[in-house]
Amino acid sequence: MSSGEPLDIVIVGGGTAGWMVGTALVSGLRPNQARVRLVESDDIATVGVGEATIPAMRDYNRFVGIDEVEMLRATNGTFKLGIEFLDWGFQGSNYHHPFGVHGQAMGGAAFHQQWNRARLAGHDFDIEEFSYAIAASRADRFEFPNPDPSLIESSYSYAYHFDASLYAKFLRKVAEGRGLKRTEGKVVAVNRDGLSGDVASITLASGEVVKGDFFVDCTGFRGLLIGQTLESPFEDWSHWLPCDRAWAVPCARGGRLTPFTRSTAREAGWIWRIPLQHRSGNGYVYSSAHISDDEAAAVLMGQLDGEALDEPRQIRFKAGRRTASWTRNVMAAGLASGFLEPLESTSIYLVQAAVMNLLKLFPGKRVEPALVDEFNRRIDREYDRVRDFLILHYHANTRTDAPLWKQCREMEIPDSLKQKLELFRRRGHAPSHRDGLFSLHSWTSLLLGQGVTPEGYDRLADNVPLSQALAEMERQRAAITRRVPLMPSHADFVARHCAVP
Ligand code: FAD
Repeated sequence: MSSGEPLDIVIVGGGTAGWMVGTALVSGLRPNQARVRLVESDDIATVGVGEATIPAMRDYNRFVGIDEVEMLRATNGTFKLGIEFLDWGFQGSNYHHPFGVHGQAMGGAAFHQQWNRARLAGHDFDIEEFSYAIAASRADRFEFPNPDPSLIESSYSYAYHFDASLYAKFLRKVAEGRGLKRTEGKVVAVNRDGLSGDVASITLASGEVVKGDFFVDCTGFRGLLIGQTLESPFEDWSHWLPCDRAWAVPCARGGRLTPFTRSTAREAGWIWRIPLQHRSGNGYVYSSAHISDDEAAAVLMGQLDGEALDEPRQIRFKAGRRTASWTRNVMAAGLASGFLEPLESTSIYLVQAAVMNLLKLFPGKRVEPALVDEFNRRIDREYDRVRDFLILHYHANTRTDAPLWKQCREMEIPDSLKQKLELFRRRGHAPSHRDGLFSLHSWTSLLLGQGVTPEGYDRLADNVPLSQALAEMERQRAAITRRVPLMPSHADFVARHCAVP
């Protein structure tokens, strides 16, 4: 950014997205670079869900300098080693998407290639036995990964479950402490510059006019600036991701404090269970074309672990994204920029991706098209990759119980996903993105978990004699089996490190 007057940035909306963006901007920019103001309305509720995260969240917290333990205490948080998928693929199936590797690479080939080579040679191991994160999840154990990469207990990562509304409050304190100015007020008009067409100011119900050089639209599904004002088109993906509603309800925590989110496929969608310290979050994400609202609510309420703590609340949505999340002098983040169902807990990550890319491509007083184009290219790529990952959960199934699953199995999928599936079926090659989601291990856990098995393998695996590969696999499995029982239980770890005082 060129020197001169600081940029006046106005964030509209104070949900998780607004406060994440605000906190990152006041943490990453100096006062002579930007003045940041956030406008939110007490009259318009936030979406209030969004309790599960992925490990990238830790990078965000580190960037803004949040103390993890302090944050978990403030948000009733727990730890997350991955997601358990029940009845996805076929009824009775159970697999984990772990935050960690499935075994260590050997001879220049990924571990799952050696595993597949062994499988094709008649050694039928369960690949999940080589994941430390899965073994710890199944045993309800947790501790921080060991930083020594030579140890098996370094081979995983973790994320959090937390109360999203408490997280936004926590961030507000941090951001205001660093100079962000908050205004309570309902935006009643968005005013554009007569010449350039850019957004020049917003008018609040109080009559106050808030001017800005750059605006961040965090108004949720409304998309007040990006959609309603600038008319950035919304690309509809509901033909691939047909779920369009959710019921959400908290309940008293019963049973285990699992260090993972549970996702159970049902006849018209899927049910989440997220364990927090003081309660569990639950929800049924469903396709309204395949079940009535009343039936869906009854299914959700009928399977709670403990007493419901509230009435179920319905949320409606449509899968898709803005074709340009940054248009003119407005960038959208959170639900204003798009929606992908929470099957892999990616929405908060997409907010993080938006604000980190905004910081990297930070505009001057006049918006430069090259920066805008690059930002939109990066955000589109993130959305497209997550979209393909989510579609695969629905598409690769052999369920016979309900029409939704037949429809998803038979639907035409994006070419980008077709190509990924074909490559995996032929040689076991899965995507591996270092510049965003998802890692090789995430893709292999999903593909194998959903029942897609490769008929061939990477020939580099042959560089290691099979007997040697089998011995090494056995060594890795034994190390996990030995080490995991020494970990504290997740409940004890939470009680010791971050229990709410
Ligand atoms: P909102 O929370 O809707 O906030 C909008 C803000 O804009 C509010 O502060 C409101 O007051 C303000 N506003 C709107 N209009 C005006 C106006 N005219 N004037 C002033 N202010 C205005 N994400 C995850 O990462 N993990 C999950 O597990 C997860 N689960 C989810 C489950 C469901 C069913 C849904 C629907 C979403 C889930 N998400 C999840 C997504 C996550 O909840 C959102 O990405 C996140 O909460 C961000 O929301 P937001 O801040 O964009 O919008």
